Order: sequence, then C-alpha cells, then structure tokens
Amino acid sequence: MRARKKKNLAARTGRVAEFAIGEPRRFKGRWSELTGGRPLHIEIGCGKGRFAVGTALANPDVFLVAIEVEPNVLVMAMEEAARAGVENLRFISMNAEALDSCFAKGEVSRIYLNFSDPWPHNKNRRLTYETFLASYRRVLAEDGELRFKTDNRDLFDWSCGELERCGWRLGTVSHDVHGAEPVDAGIATEYEERFMALGTPINYLDAEPPEGELDEQVELADCTAADCAELARLALRVWRTRFTPVYGRVRTAEMIENGRSERSFEKLFADGYRCELLRVAGEDAGMLVTRHEGDVLRVEELSVERRFRGRGFGRMLAGAAERRAAEFGCVRLEAHCPAEDTEGMRAAAALGFGERGELLVRELPRTRWRYLLIDADGTLFDFDRAERRAIEQTLASCGLPSDDATCALYSRLNAAEWKRLERGEVTSEELRRNRFLRLGEALGVEVDPDLLNSTYMQKLSAGADLLDGAYEAVERLSRECTVAVVTNGLPPVQRARMESSGLGRLVHRLYISGEVGYSKPAPEFFDAVCRDMGIDDRSQAIVVGDSLTSDIAGAKNSGIASCLFDPHGVHPTGVADFTVRSYGELERLIEL
Ligand code: SAH
Repeated sequence: MRARKKKNLAARTGRVAEFAIGEPRRFKGRWSELTGGRPLHIEIGCGKGRFAVGTALANPDVFLVAIEVEPNVLVMAMEEAARAGVENLRFISMNAEALDSCFAKGEVSRIYLNFSDPWPHNKNRRLTYETFLASYRRVLAEDGELRFKTDNRDLFDWSCGELERCGWRLGTVSHDVHGAEPVDAGIATEYEERFMALGTPINYLDAEPPEGELDEQVELADCTAADCAELARLALRVWRTRFTPVYGRVRTAEMIENGRSERSFEKLFADGYRCELLRVAGEDAGMLVTRHEGDVLRVEELSVERRFRGRGFGRMLAGAAERRAAEFGCVRLEAHCPAEDTEGMRAAAALGFGERGELLVRELPRTRWRYLLIDADGTLFDFDRAERRAIEQTLASCGLPSDDATCALYSRLNAAEWKRLERGEVTSEELRRNRFLRLGEALGVEVDPDLLNSTYMQKLSAGADLLDGAYEAVERLSRECTVAVVTNGLPPVQRARMESSGLGRLVHRLYISGEVGYSKPAPEFFDAVCRDMGIDDRSQAIVVGDSLTSDIAGAKNSGIASCLFDPHGVHPTGVADFTVRSYGELERLIEL
C-alpha cells in the first residue's frame, strides 16, 4: 500500500505513541510481560489497521501485534486504534524480515497475512516466500497457524505451492470466502472491502507449520578428515536426490557417476578446503566446502538435502560463505556447475550467483575497510538503559536506597573508576570492587562490594538492549568485513549479552580487555587484536566507538582510522576521522 508522505508524520506518530512498540527486540522472549499471558497473534502488513483494530476488539482474550513497514500508513492504523480505545493491540514499524530478532522460538500463536503485496517479478519479497515461511515457522508455537487471505489468485496459488513445498500442512482453503466456498475469514480488511465491492472473489487459507524439531538445533559444524565418511554419506544422499545448488570443479569421473566419495573428501582436506556440515536437529542436512584463493573464495560445494529444502538453509549457507569470504578479504565467490544441471543452475541463481558458462560468480560488495573493530557499550548496546536498570535492581535487592540520586551517584563513581582503568591506574578486578566500596563510603554505610558486584553483573548480563539499527547493520556489515567487537567491558557480562542479543552469531571475533590483558586506549590492546586477526595493513581497519577517550584515542594511538558514534551529536567534530550519528550513516561510510 503506497501512501503519500504525510505531513507532520513525527508529531502524529507521537500523539499515538502509546500504541507503538519502539524497541520490539527488547521483548524477544518476554512478550508475555505485555500480553499478560494471553496468546500472541501478529499481523504482517497491517496497512491502515482496519483488520487489526476489529480483530483485537472482537478477541479481548488475545493480544495482537500488527507490523507494518510503511510509517505513513502505520500512523493511520495507530490513530484508528486510539479512536477505538483498544487495549490488546500494539504496532511495530518494521520490515517483516526482522521478525526473528523480535520474537523468540514458539512465542507467537497465530500469524495473519492479509492482501500482501504480490511482487509479480520479485518472488523473494513475497511474504509467503520460503525465507519468510522459515522465520514464521521459527516464531510460531507448535500448534500455531498462519492465516492468509488475498484477492490475487496467482499469488494465492503460488503461496499454496510454496507452503506445501516447505512442509506446511494446509487446513481450510477457499477460493471465494464470501461466495461459492464460504468460510469465516474474520474481519474484512480495507483491501477486502474494495475487492468485494468490485465482485472479486477473495481467497483464504490456514496452514500449520511443518512438524518436527528445529532451529536452536541448527548448527554449522567444522569437520576434520575424521569426518570424511559422514560427509561422503551425506554427499551421496544429496547427489541421489539431485539437489546440489552449487558444486565445484574438484570432480572426478567417479564422482560424476556416484557423487563424492570418502576419498574425494580426503583430497579436499589435503588441498586445504574447509568442510562444514549443516546439522538440523542432529541430522546431517547439508554442507559448505570452501577454500580461499587470494581474492576469491572457492565454493566447492554448497548443498542441502532435499527433505530440508525450502527452509532457508541454502541461503544460510550462502550467508556463511559470504562471511568466510569477508574474513579473508575475498571480493568474489566462485563455484562451478555443469550446464546440464539446470536445477543446480537455478538454485545458484536464487543464491545470487551469476553465470559465466559453467563458472558461477558472485561478486561481493567492495568495501574500503576490511576490518571493522566496534565497541560494545554505548555503541552496539544501549548501555545507559541496561546499567540504570541493573543498578536500581541491585541496590534495591541489597537493601540500599535505589532512588534517582543514589543511582546518579553510583554512575559518577563508576565512571570515575572506568577513567582510572583507561589510565591504567586500576585493574578491572579492582574497578569492580572499588565502585561499590566508594558508593558505600559516600552513603556512609557498610557494604559488601563483592556481593553488590556479583548481583550487579548478573542483572547487567540480562540487559542486552541493542541500539536502533545495530543488529541489522552488523548483520549486513559482517558479510562484507571481518567484524570484531572490542570492549573494555567485563568478560562474563559481555559474553552473556553477545549471546542473548544474537550478535554472538554475527560477529567474527570478540576481544575483551580483561582477557586480552590490556585495555583501550592502550596501543597494546589494538596490537594484540591486529595480531590475532592477521591485520598487517592497518589502513584496512577502522575502529567505531562512542568514547573519545577509549575508542578514538585508542585508534589514533594505534594508527587505525577512527569513527565516532555520536547519536546525540554531543561531541566536537574533527577529533575522530569520521563521525556518524546512526547505523544508517555508518553503513554508508563503511560501504564507500
Ligand atoms: N492488510 C491491509 C494492507 C494490505 S497492502 C489490507 O488488507 O487492507 C500490504 C501491506 O503490507 C502494505 O501496507 C505494505 O506496506 C505492507 N508490507 C509489505 N511488505 C512488508 C514487509 N516486508 N514487512 C512489513 N510490512 C510489509
């Protein structure tokens, strides 16, 4: 639904802000706090909100979250909700591509898609495309369901096929819900009203996700020569089922006949290839075999067994290949596919490979910087919010005052200790105790600094609020650069937060000063990082951070380019080599 740009969008959105969920990622795994234990339903592409508001009003025992990518339309939906005074409905302004980062596995009971855009020439943008279905499957509960209605018969038929191909179980299917094949398809949407008035039949289906375990148990495991037999068994199955999207040139006559043998894997290992096995719920499902050759990452095999198709694994392997390429600074993925294998060719094209005869090539975006060293607190994570919450809870749970003044006092004392750490006057161990000792002194009470600190660290580890756009930016940048997180934070806290925020899976390296043995801004810290990452040419690296004294000074001390992340525009310009105020700006800078 295209809408003309609304005047005063920000002001209008502000007036109905109570209906918006500004930071939906914060609720991942915790939606029950908002729903009050009611089942969570979501609508994707809610448009002007007629369906969402009507459905929420009619079902007070359900909590509905409506998602819409177009803010100019979304504001109308929120205004509609405000007029209706509905209590069990909230809105998220985002692209459905980010679904996984907002909802945990099995957290959603129902997903509605109403009159989704048909994208006639761009199948992979359809909301019923396999990658979307894969993420619906992840967020839906086992007994959850998808409900889809549309006027567009082509899209509908294609979607039925896509659902079946991906193992979904179709329930009710109707090609004319208000006419020849009547079913109750719920509240009519804006589009539905329009098409009904024109006499266009409306199609409806509901479907249950494929059975079986998944996801948390998806792993990409590095193999060794000891795994050759296992790899060969899988290769044979993949071969027999004829789904080998991309495979390489190390082919023998025997292999063309029978698939790869144990011996051919032995040869790959001997030739320095890296073999990774995709396991889904403990079963071998696919593999990725790569080797970097200068600027090129050679993809010798990228394959998914047929019964695991349609769940986005091919794409996942392609993403992994891109990240391998980024690690070695490769600018291109190359693979081979015999011309007669049309299915393989098609699959490769869907993964973004272009064809030059039997050679398949995927150019990777060129980046000016190959290595991105990014700070955690205040840059990736909304540290202020997490810290504030953790300190309040810690003080309260230890029987100390937790009012604003005490929290502010703690902040000041803590900041002073961190400055001392940067100057090398204290170790991080001392810092942890000192800040609470000083707080006790200032309050004139006896405290147990170790207990306070361990309580605080525990609370802080739970707070993994990412700043706006951070996750998406790291996801994209990690395909183009080697991304390392460089932090003076405390090891257990940082590791826990990297995990719970999902960043742990995206970034290639994590350097924590407590483990490195030096803290930013010491050049020794960056020396150790560069050594470990194999950065010989420092002009290919850039440090991104919010602190002039640790990140920017550290980069300068170490001869590395620096970029100040300054979302509130509070720092003078010109100190760092670059300044950005948002992740959008950072991406534009890095992708120069
Ligand atoms: N459901 C409404 C609107 C249908 S038009 C109705 O039936 O009247 C489709 C809507 O989906 C548009 O408003 C469009 O902006 C939104 N949309 C399309 N792709 C989306 C995506 N990837 N994520 C979120 N919303 C999307």
